Amino acid sequence: MPIFLHDTMSRELRPLLLKPSRDVFGMYCCGPTVYGPAHIGNFRTFILQDVLRRTLEVGGMQVKHVRNITDVDDKTIRGSQAAGQTLATFTASWTKKFHEDCQALGLLAPHVEPSAVAHIPQQIAMIEALVKRGHAYVAKDGSVYFKVCSCADYGKLSHLDRSKLATQTTNSAGEANDADEYDRESAADFALWKSWKPEDGENRWASPWGDGRPGWHIECSAMSLQHLGATFDLHGGGVDLCFPHHENEIAQTECSTGVKGFAAHWFHSAHLLVDGDKMSKSKGNLYTLEQLTSKGFTPMEVRYALISGHYRTPLNFTLHGVENARSALTKLERWTERLLATAGFSQAEFAAPLVHETQTAWGRFAPAWETLQSDLNIPGCLGQIFTVVGEKDSLTPEQARQDVVGLAKLLHALGLQLFTAKATTSIPPEVAELAAQRWAAKQTKNFAQADQLRQALTQAGWTMLDRKDGYDLKPN
Ligand code: AMP
Ligand code: ZN
Repeated sequence: MPIFLHDTMSRELRPLLLKPSRDVFGMYCCGPTVYGPAHIGNFRTFILQDVLRRTLEVGGMQVKHVRNITDVDDKTIRGSQAAGQTLATFTASWTKKFHEDCQALGLLAPHVEPSAVAHIPQQIAMIEALVKRGHAYVAKDGSVYFKVCSCADYGKLSHLDRSKLATQTTNSAGEANDADEYDRESAADFALWKSWKPEDGENRWASPWGDGRPGWHIECSAMSLQHLGATFDLHGGGVDLCFPHHENEIAQTECSTGVKGFAAHWFHSAHLLVDGDKMSKSKGNLYTLEQLTSKGFTPMEVRYALISGHYRTPLNFTLHGVENARSALTKLERWTERLLATAGFSQAEFAAPLVHETQTAWGRFAPAWETLQSDLNIPGCLGQIFTVVGEKDSLTPEQARQDVVGLAKLLHALGLQLFTAKATTSIPPEVAELAAQRWAAKQTKNFAQADQLRQALTQAGWTMLDRKDGYDLKPN
């Protein structure tokens, strides 16, 4: 069964399918602007994109994930000047920090991570094509603007009322856009190329229209064209990017290539809020991963908290939410330890990709997987996982093995790693079998048999430590 996902453009749930002409699913995600640490609101969006990619992969699809680095814009230039560094040095250090946080949070590295500065010739070529085709004009100062009225279906993504289309001063989240004014013909037009101004300092690139730098929107059009082609399967970003950024990306690419159908599917994630307000660098109401780990939370607990709400609903961030994530992960770890013991799997085997790549079984986790496939319903999926965790069971090792495989695949799709802080010891299958029998005997109140089995375990060199909801096995 394919994954169904809401598409912003059609406003429908649509299946994510590979086109017959392609063997790889092309996915472009707008990446971070590297002028400071990414906050956990940014990471909510990046983690949701990561879960989507992982879910597609667990479903058997090959994905090409492209996520760019925005390393030239007003913010990066101003930031580098304030730090007394070159733009390249300044953005490299924040890119490094971003990568460290991504790794800690269990994000898979994108297959391609293009930088805007490394794609200036491609952006210039696209702007030249737009000027040539009559979709862009050069202003007196050498800036180049996209002529919005030349694009008949401009606004199709965000369902804009074209008669009311006057300006791009607010984005789709209702926030002010820091769009530069310069001398546009129409307030709706937006900059493709910004002519050099003294405040840009040494940050200037030569172009047919004089020295300057690219506008923000053209970066993503040029990089997606370079790495995925004129049309590809899915484009993602936070909901604030829908208008004008993504609307402008569509207009630029479709008008410069002459090919319609830029992205087949649009995946927008709702914001992370603090006290009902969007978490953002400019508002200063943000949390970074570092601030949370210094409070004693693990990156996995932060990841769990960030995926615990549906991607189409804003999520209010609280420290209480991360504490709940900790309790949920601890409960799941304990339950999984018992399941692994029954199935005769070690924690290392559970974490190894082999478990989820080679098996098709889902065990009792089939409903959780179906829920995840239905509009990436992560909270629903987690709910289904805990329904299984709460069930009374006395499984055979084979049944437990099916559950292990199903759970391993699900946790891989969600990017949740268990037992990250603990050493892993392999439990021999015969010991696991004895432990499972003893647990079953105890559940049925056959205490004499349970005692005998405990002795057999001791002879085999293992101790069974009972808890209310399960047991641990420790070598003597
Ligand atoms: P930026 O680094 O500002 O370019 O943003 C990187 C990504 O984070 C974009 O997809 C934004 O839409 C997204 N984003 C920014 N703030 C939030 C937030 N509070 N919650 C969720 N996503 C956000
Ligand atoms: Zn973008």
